[in-house]
Amino acid sequence: MTYATQPEASHFIDGQYVEDDSGAALPVIYPATGETIANLHAATPALVDRALAAAKRAQPAWAALTGTERGRILRRAADIMRERNRELSELETKDTGKPLQETLVADATSGADALEYFGGLAATLAGEHIQLGEDFIYTRREALGVTVGIGAWNYPTQIACWKAAPALACGNTMVFKPSETTPLSALKVAEILVEAGAPPGVFNVVQGYGEVGAGLVDDDRVAKVSLTGSVPTGRKVYASAASGMKAVTMELGGKSPLVIFDDASLEDAVSAAINANFYSTGQICSNGTRVFVQDGIREAFLDRLAERLKGVAMGDPLDEATNFGPMVSARQREIVEGFISQGVAEGARLVAGGGRPEGEGYWIEPTVFADVTDGMTIAREEIFGPVMSVFGFSTEEEALERANATIYGLSAGVFTRDLARAHRFVGRLQAGSCWINTYNLTPVEAPFGGMKMSGVGRENGQVAIEHWSQLKTVYVAMGEVEAPY
Ligand code: NDP
Repeated sequence: MTYATQPEASHFIDGQYVEDDSGAALPVIYPATGETIANLHAATPALVDRALAAAKRAQPAWAALTGTERGRILRRAADIMRERNRELSELETKDTGKPLQETLVADATSGADALEYFGGLAATLAGEHIQLGEDFIYTRREALGVTVGIGAWNYPTQIACWKAAPALACGNTMVFKPSETTPLSALKVAEILVEAGAPPGVFNVVQGYGEVGAGLVDDDRVAKVSLTGSVPTGRKVYASAASGMKAVTMELGGKSPLVIFDDASLEDAVSAAINANFYSTGQICSNGTRVFVQDGIREAFLDRLAERLKGVAMGDPLDEATNFGPMVSARQREIVEGFISQGVAEGARLVAGGGRPEGEGYWIEPTVFADVTDGMTIAREEIFGPVMSVFGFSTEEEALERANATIYGLSAGVFTRDLARAHRFVGRLQAGSCWINTYNLTPVEAPFGGMKMSGVGRENGQVAIEHWSQLKTVYVAMGEVEAPY
């Protein structure tokens, strides 16, 4: 069965699909072929206003429900997403180009996990009681109000749910703007939430380019902004939110190290390096793109990696045997190709890929550079494509210093059978998410977010509640009020 890719309308506001043809054209391209699969419009300022007004109107009644009631709706939405997983995965594949083999297990399913997890937590929201003799204090955990979510294009469903689930669980309402490159799935999330019982206005979607996002962030009705995107966009959004004293969560880019010691399981380390660089065609913020391999095993690592890369199956992303898809857009492919040329020009040794396979769509081969040095452009800048850089190192101290020598601090991994060394090493890594003997596992139970330029705040885990709610302190006096005169 194939499903329609053209949505009923471009936006979802106040519980229904809404169209406004006067907004700028927003064509949606299937990256595997370059074919246009839907035609949408960006939101006009009037539509953005309508979405924010709907969210503002809906918020008090939504927050007034009990956590159990809100949670039940979120958990029902999770069930619907799982029931519709195949349809949602096919849509995600067409929107992003990611192989169905991936989207079936990593997109709507992880969105459903977030809805289920925060649906469960909603009923546990509570303040505390502090006794002060006869007087006492209690705290109330309250919603922030109207919130804004802005998404990147690599995990459109997951990003919408990672933001909406905790926001809604805490009694906030949301206006979400997907990336203009992948606008389709967030509409499905909105549709499903309404089907699950979310009142109109609780979760709204407006499409648009950067200026639509900027308009949302600037609006006085908004109490919090959560962005998943690049560092340059993060700087702008954070600055604009700061002037309105709005709370923020910033999930930004990375240039994460994956450090492999010579006592590690070589096979597992190679598997992790493949996942950390080529899953989703390398378009993952937490990817371990700087692979440091200890001198004694470096050549063996590269040999085994070359062998394993023979298993890459590029092809029709809707064929479940395909395990490597195209880049999301022509523009993103150009950016990645620019980095590859720079790697060659600066003297890195290209040991795999680097080229464009024949045919339509935005394909690029999985690419590996060896003999990369720390000053090269490909070693310093986030590429956001399937390009692995392999570095040598000799001692633990050296690896640590070089791993941390970056403006980013999103993620890091270490492979070693020496567990004391593993814990010692991650203890000194400057990264929000660290993995020992694996890479890139991000279950909803685990807090996720960056240090340094990679971001502010955390998504997922119980701690996310802190970022989507605020505390009110209430002092209760039991006696008379004393005054000096
Ligand atoms: P961008 O930063 O270009 O865009 C992110 C979102 O912000 C898009 O929806 C974009 O709209 C919007 N936007 C752009 N300008 C503004 C503005 N001035 N005000 C408000 N919103 C704006 O990132 P990409 O979409 O290219 O995604 C790739 C980046 O995202 C990488 O750096 C990657 O590391 C990061 N990322 C981080 C993750 C994390 O959790 N830490 C996860 C996934 C990706 P439009 O697309 O219409 O321009």
